[in-house]
Parts: sequence; C-alpha cells; structure tokens
Amino acid sequence: MLIGIPKETYPGEKRVALTPKVCAQLIKLGHQVLLEGGAGESAGFSDPLYVAAGVSVTHKRREVFERCDLIVQVRGLGANPARGSQDLEFLRPDHTLIGLADPLTVSVAAESYASAGVTSFALELIPRTTKAQSMDVLSSQATLVGYYSVIQAATALNKIFPMLMTAAGTVKAVKVLVLGAGVAGLQAIATSKRLGAIVHGYDLRPAAMEQIQSLGAKVVPLEIENPGESGGYAKAVTEDVQERQRAQLAKFVSESDVVVCTAAVPGKRAPLLISAEMVRGMKHGSVIVDLAAETGGNCELTQAGETVQLGGVSILGPLNVPSEVPFHASELFAQNIFNFLTHLFQHTKDQNLREGLNLQDDIISKTLLTRDYQVTNAQVRETFGFVDSAILSPSQLVANI
Ligand code: NAD
Repeated sequence: MLIGIPKETYPGEKRVALTPKVCAQLIKLGHQVLLEGGAGESAGFSDPLYVAAGVSVTHKRREVFERCDLIVQVRGLGANPARGSQDLEFLRPDHTLIGLADPLTVSVAAESYASAGVTSFALELIPRTTKAQSMDVLSSQATLVGYYSVIQAATALNKIFPMLMTAAGTVKAVKVLVLGAGVAGLQAIATSKRLGAIVHGYDLRPAAMEQIQSLGAKVVPLEIENPGESGGYAKAVTEDVQERQRAQLAKFVSESDVVVCTAAVPGKRAPLLISAEMVRGMKHGSVIVDLAAETGGNCELTQAGETVQLGGVSILGPLNVPSEVPFHASELFAQNIFNFLTHLFQHTKDQNLREGLNLQDDIISKTLLTRDYQVTNAQVRETFGFVDSAILSPSQLVANI
C-alpha cells in the first residue's frame, strides 16, 4: 500500500505524523511511503532523512492524495479548523484517512468524510484500554504536555524549584499543586518532583490517589464523592460538586507557588476548580498553567492561548503544547500510528484496507469515524444526533444538538 504524509497546515503545527524511522518500519513490511517535501522539517526530520529511509518525496500536495491509498496526518479536518477543508477536493471513496479530528467537539470531520465516502479513523477515539495503550496518541502527547507545563511554570516563576543550602542562606523549595492526575497530571507531578518541588496532587478518582503517592507527592484530601468512570475517563461532576471542590481547594491553591491544571472530561467543558477569588488569594509571583484552556480551563480567568495577570499571579493558557517539543512528540505520535496500523493490517483481509475490515474488533470499531458514506461511530452519532447513521444537514444538526 502507498502511504501518504502531507505537510501539516494547522497554523503553528510543527509535528509530523510519521518519522523516517517509522517509515522504514512500514517499508520493511512491504509498503511504500510518499512524503510532501518539508513535512518533517519543523520537527527536525529533513527530506534527506526520509529519502535515506526509502521514502519518495514530492513537492505537490495534490500528488500525495492522488497517488496514495492511505493518508496519515497529525491534524485532519476538525482538528484543523481554518485549513483542514482545503484537502476535501482531493478525497476519493477509496481513501483511508488517519489523524486527529476532534470528533466529539465538532461534527465537521464526520459529516465531510462521510459525504466524501472515505474510510476515516479519528485518533481521539482510540479506547483507553491496556490493549490500545501503545496506539493512544492522546496519552503519548499528554505525557509530553505534563512535562512541558512544569518547564513553562518554572520559566514563568520568579523562584527556583528545589531547596538549596548555600553559604548565602537556604532557599526553600517551591510548592506545586497539580489538579487532575490523569496522564498529563501524573507527568507534571513526576517532573515537579524531579525538579525538587514539594508536590501535592488532586483527582476525583480513587485510583489516582495511589498513583500520586507512588510518585512521592502528597494527596490533597477533599471530601468529594467519586462520580465514577466511563471508558477509562472520569465522569463529569455537577456545578454544585465543583463549588464544593473550589471551597475545599482554596486553602491549597493559596499556599502554592505553582498550580498545574489538567482536570478534564472528554467532550465536556473542563471543570471550574479555581475561581477569580481564589487567584486573588494566591501569593504575588505565583503561576497557574492551565492545560485545560482549550476546553474552557480549570481556572475562571484562563484565556486560551494567552497569559493573563491578576494581582501578580500569571495564568498561562497554552494551546497545542506538543508542538513545542515537536521532535519527541512526532516520534511518539508516529510510533502510536505504526502500532495502530499494524493492528489494522492484522484485522483486515485486504492489506490496502479497502475490504474485510474486522468491525467486531473493539479498537477498530471505536476508532472508525466514517465508512461507505456513513458516520459509523456510535459515540459520535449519539453526540451529534446522527440518526440511523445517516448524514444530517447542518440545520438538522443544530436542531439535534
Ligand atoms: P486525562 O483524562 O488522562 O486526565 C484528566 C484527569 O482529570 C482525570 O484523571 C480525571 O479523573 C480528572 N478530573 C476530571 N474531572 C475532575 C474534577 N472535577 N476534579 C478533579 N479531577 C478531575 O487527560 P490528560 O490526557 O491528562 O489531559 C489533561 C488535560 O490536558 C486535558 O484538558 C487535555 O485536553 C489537556 N491537554 C492539553 C494539551 C495542549 O496542548 N494544551 C495537550 C494535551 C492535553
């Protein structure tokens, strides 16, 4: 099969979906790869590295779509709001697309890919199971994001993280609070510990308590009931519960130099855990890094993509953080794709992925977004009210939401 890697077009996106190393692995399996020239450049993978791995290069984007059976992108339609639709004219029903599509927030990828008749897989929908862990791009990227959020906090803070005993006196270690101890949160805890901070972690899920402690951090003991889990993710809590969380968290937030916010529930607005009033109670010079900025933020004052100042406290709302470390982000992303592709090849009769896709397989059925002019994904159909897997017009969609 001929696998195409178009250049990412989302503004500021520096990652590439497949690295030369992973391309070589695919070529060894008998596939061919065609790269749009320069696609790996900003991640640190030049065209000659791809050519050395056996990849062909074209400088015509159209050719990548015309010649290839499978198109692999970091950001497909949906995850690339401004420019994703530019590739729609290139799509054919025999194409298979793999990439991020933001399928539970916006319906554009589901609708457009179904209309084009392509077989598409949305990487956000990979189930959070042990079997699928090696394919889970959200987890691999969130691990890097958790690390990088602490580096951002350390850079913005007017203090150093570790305790230092010097001839000029003792410097106290800073206090870090991490809200939400999922993938990004646990990595933020581990990184803060490595930098020498005194770290507290908080999450609603009881399983997270043990994980926080296993990293050497202390658990914030709130008296809030566990809402339960669904598919490896926490369930959303009511506004009333969030109000009780804020009331109990206020003391811990005010004592912290750094708060890293990662609490999230997929497809929902992020829970509001820090009010403006709580920010006013923080020390001058403190820093909040709100990784949930894209879905509304855990802090009331967060502005997506901006840094807000209030009373000497900086509130960072970074977006597309994996793209800040594009080399390693691409390496992990590409390896996830390779693992996903190997799984697809094992569960499809036709190695061009056109026929005999095993829809009984949990990983395939949950990640498949569209096929044969239908929105096939049950979660997406339910979210946007697609009836009998038919494609709805935008006005019907609005009525159904
Ligand atoms: P995750 O699902 O692994 O972790 C989220 C954690 O939040 C879970 O452990 C969950 O139990 C917890 N949580 C949910 N509601 C809570 C509440 N009310 N109180 C306390 N804890 C609660 O998610 P993740 O992969 O670690 O991602 C964390 C956040 O980082 C998400 O908002 C995600 O969108 C964001 N993220 C941002 C970027 C970026 O570039 N800005 C990149 C990757 C992830």
